[in-house]
Parts: sequence; structure tokens; C-alpha cells
Amino acid sequence: MSEDNAFSGIRENIKKIKEVVANAAFYSGRTEDDITIMAVTKTVDADRVNYVLSCGIKLIGENRVQEFIEKRENINLSACDVHLIGHLQTNKVNQIIGKVSMIQSVDSVKIAQEIAAKSLKIGQTTDILMEINIQSEANKFGFLPVSALESAYELAQITGINLCGIMSIPPMNKDEKVNRQNFSNINRLFIDICDKKIDNVSMKILSMGMSGDYRAAILEGANLIRLGSAIFGDRKY
Ligand SMILES: *Cc1c(COP(=O)(O)O)cnc(C)c1O
Repeated sequence: MSEDNAFSGIRENIKKIKEVVANAAFYSGRTEDDITIMAVTKTVDADRVNYVLSCGIKLIGENRVQEFIEKRENINLSACDVHLIGHLQTNKVNQIIGKVSMIQSVDSVKIAQEIAAKSLKIGQTTDILMEINIQSEANKFGFLPVSALESAYELAQITGINLCGIMSIPPMNKDEKVNRQNFSNINRLFIDICDKKIDNVSMKILSMGMSGDYRAAILEGANLIRLGSAIFGDRKY
């Protein structure tokens, strides 16, 4: 089978996704160029990652440090940016700093300090998003909405990181209205923090929306969506 045949489903999926993105962007007063599509590549082998890059996707997201380190030498890194989107443990920070252009999953001040310290050691600053646990779920990582603004001020004071926005994974609901409300609440927090014009903070990225709910997320203001199964099909662990 030629590569194109083996992977043609992926190209079709991206085409359909782009139509939905363009439509949702239009209804939220923007264009498709305002929305960045990230391909979430956890469990996806390097060949398929490279194929997705050949289809015009320019950003990939990896959840696990170990998996990315093992795959990265086979990925066409000159064709994409890579963001870390999974929970980061303190003892893995050393391995990832300098290898991704952003860490979206910063879920505590403590991990932010660790990222900053390791970044400064290699003479760089690392772009981060603060992950928000929008419904304050007990089993989820992230800053709580009640203290998000205060946490943003704390993050702003740490040398070695740049706070660039918010990432969130709201619980998926079958009811479109509930999804929209969650995304709207995340957007409100994003705007609140923007409006404070905190020194050293430039709130540019609102990362929300996955395969099952990205249309709702865009309608509520997302400018970066993270898609795994919608692009690659169901994950095989
Ligand atoms: C896996 C994952 C995604 C993508 O999930 P799909 O439902 O397959 O699109 C997005 N964001 C994060 C943080 C993830 O872990």
C-alpha cells in the first residue's frame, strides 16, 4: 500500500475538521486562520505524526515526556512546534525543557517554579499556559477558578517562564448547552486575566476543545483546539 492509501483517512478527517473550524470561527466573528489546530499525538507512531505534518498541521501535542523523548528523533521537528499537554512530574522537568516550545499543562506554582529553574539553567525562558480545572473536580489537575487570578499574579513573578494563556479540559457532556457554559466560563477567566494587563504576562492563547467538543469551544472563544481521535481515529493503547 502506498503511504497515501494507508493514511488517506487522516487527510479526509483533517479536511472535514477544517470545514467545521471555518464555520465555527465564522459564527464567532473570526476566520479559520485565527484558530490553531493541534494534532494530539499520544500513542500515535512517528510515521503517522509525519504524515499529519505533510497535511499542513504545524503543531503537535504530546502527553507523556517518556513517549515523546522516544519518538522525537523520528519526527520531522523542522515542520512543527511541539507542546506538552499532559501532567508534568517534577522529576521529568529536566528531560523536557528545551525540547518543546510550550508547556500547556502547568497545574501548580510549584511545577512552574521547577520549569523556570531548569529553563534558566540552560539560558532560556519557557512559554507556559496555566491549566484550569474549571469545575473544581477532585480527580483533575489544574488551578481552581476561584484562585486563578491570584495564581496568574504568582506565575507572572517567576523569572524563567512566560505565561501566555490558559488551557482547560472541561468534563465532556452530551448536552451541548452544558459544554458551551463550561467553555464560556473558561473564556471569562481568560478575559479577566487579560484585562488586568499583568506585567510579564501576555495572554494570547485559549486552548480548549477536543475531538468531541471543539465546535462548541470555538464558538465560545477558543483559539487553539487539541484533536486526537478526530484526526487519527480511536487510540490503541
Ligand atoms: C488526549 C488529549 C486530547 C485529545 O483528545 P481527543 O478526544 O482524542 O481529541 C486533548 N487534550 C489533552 C490534554 C489530551 O490529553
